[in-house]
Amino acid sequence: MATVLLVEDEPAVRLGVRLALERAGHKVLEAPSATEAWPLLKEAEIVLLDWMLPDEPGLRFLERLRQGAYPDLPVLMLTARAEVRDRVEGLSRGADDYLAKPFATEELLARLEALLRRAGKRKVLKRGPLLLDLERMEANLEGKPLPLTRREFELLAFLAQRPGRVYTREELLEAVWGPDYLGTPRTVDQHVLQLREKLGEDPKAPRFLETVRGLGYRFRPEDRREG
Ligand code: CA
Repeated sequence: MATVLLVEDEPAVRLGVRLALERAGHKVLEAPSATEAWPLLKEAEIVLLDWMLPDEPGLRFLERLRQGAYPDLPVLMLTARAEVRDRVEGLSRGADDYLAKPFATEELLARLEALLRRAGKRKVLKRGPLLLDLERMEANLEGKPLPLTRREFELLAFLAQRPGRVYTREELLEAVWGPDYLGTPRTVDQHVLQLREKLGEDPKAPRFLETVRGLGYRFRPEDRREG
């Protein structure tokens, strides 16, 4: 059971989908326009989004939520525009799945549940503008993918999962490279340097990776970064 936000301007479609979802045990929030949908996003676990809305194209709404606070919210697009070109466009702009109208409610439910299962399994860490997909080992900063090596990703993810905690270079070597790795503290320094460069850090005021003099490194805690 999930909270589903249904963004659809046609009352008949909205009613049919809502009844089907409620029968399946889901809670449904309805919005007939993008404007009305926006404030409901924070309660939604998944969004069913119509392509043609009265106030804004569904794809534009999708782009706004992806670039905003909802990069990982599962979105299933519902649309009468069934051409392959449109489908590809929707998916490439951040939709997780796509269903052409008219559709069978059984198919809608099956796809919705598959998306929810997938979303539940994905572990994505969000630290301000930085997103780390721990399963796919993908990093994203301000909406742009960061080309990190495996070790760089692991080091960043290790620290980002424990913001505020200081780790010595030796501890980081052991945690990230493993106890058998024959590295030196310099290995850690080099990786931090590379990471900072890729993150576009200001060496005097790093947003993410702080040096704690005489001790080691830490991921900057949330409260100080936001301020
Ligand atoms: Ca419509």
